[in-house]
Amino acid sequence: MSYNIDQNGYYGQFGGAFIPEMLYPNVEELRQNYLSIMNEDSFKKEFNQLLKDYVGRPSPLYFAKRLSKKYNTKIYLKREDLNHTGAHKINNTIGQILMAKRLGKTRIIAETGAGQHGVATATVCALMGIECIVYMGAIDIERQAPNVSRMKMLGATVIPAQSGSKTLKDATNEAIRDWINNPIDTHYIIGSVVGPHPYPDMVAKFQSVISEEIKNQLLEHEGQSKPNYVMACVGGGSNAAGAFYQFLDDLDVNLIAVEAAGKGINSGLSAATSTLGKVGIIHGSKTLLMQSDDGQITEPYSISAGLDYPGIGPMHANLYDKNRAEFIAISDDDAMAAGLELCKLEGIIPAIETSHSLAVFKYKKFKPDDIVVLNLSGRGDKDLNTYINYFNL
Ligand SMILES: *Cc1c(COP(=O)(O)O)cnc(C)c1O
Repeated sequence: MSYNIDQNGYYGQFGGAFIPEMLYPNVEELRQNYLSIMNEDSFKKEFNQLLKDYVGRPSPLYFAKRLSKKYNTKIYLKREDLNHTGAHKINNTIGQILMAKRLGKTRIIAETGAGQHGVATATVCALMGIECIVYMGAIDIERQAPNVSRMKMLGATVIPAQSGSKTLKDATNEAIRDWINNPIDTHYIIGSVVGPHPYPDMVAKFQSVISEEIKNQLLEHEGQSKPNYVMACVGGGSNAAGAFYQFLDDLDVNLIAVEAAGKGINSGLSAATSTLGKVGIIHGSKTLLMQSDDGQITEPYSISAGLDYPGIGPMHANLYDKNRAEFIAISDDDAMAAGLELCKLEGIIPAIETSHSLAVFKYKKFKPDDIVVLNLSGRGDKDLNTYINYFNL
């Protein structure tokens, strides 16, 4: 593959590893070992077996007939919502727990905002019988009570972050502090294609199973392995990275990344990072992020918790920078309407993150014989209360 990070972990000008010196040994150990471990036959075998028997892969590639008819194009949905735990995040947490075991780690830490990554991490720790500590902002703990209960049922310890705004970035700070204090026995599972090198590349590779399957499945359906478009929502960017990965070198496959405009790109309540962001450093990586003129990170906003992140992974910053992917921002209102439309047309309740990509059909015209693959990143069960309140159901 020609599209790749360079040897310092950069995609063009984005990426790298900007970390406190105390964290260097942990990140360096991972950097030196991740590729060789991932290439071991025994690793691949165990990873693929768990993806099959535990996650339920391959996830179907479903031709959405009624949705296609409505928008007069051929729409396929990659059903990551049917994975165990209801989204794509489990692909990455399984990969990382196996990596941690190979590195001799006996303790897992993670940070979580809405709780989805915390649940996926607690799940694989239970699967492997490994201690799990999840840092979560005190305010998020109140807002996301069901996910906190899930993590506890799965045996994880949830530690509230009481500093700052008591949300995701504060939980991240606590997790980093923990890792600095426990460098030998602990692995830090990051939940998206963000963080210092090698995390963005490692997570993209674990998620690339999505596009590998799309190629084979599309060949079965259409007699060709390449679609005209692949579309996915972007919070940090892991489901999009997985859906794009095998097509990055195929310039005839158009990539569409969908961000959350929130109440509108220029409303002050938005998470449209590519448009609003400037080059800066967040979570150890040089990328595009929303920040004030003096470099303070701006609070992002989106109705969907998974897209409510002030940065994007360095791969996506690079895809944006060189126009390899088209970036489209979708408002709360358009996303909610598109989510409800999928319920009525296809009998599928999508996660609100995914609903953002579904709303693109309202604005972008595709040709009748275009093949558009939309990565259905997760199911909407977790968002039921948001849907109920929004539509007065
Ligand atoms: C977490 C999440 C996202 C956003 O994360 P990415 O790393 O950008 O994929 C999108 N969809 C669902 C269902 C999620 O749970």
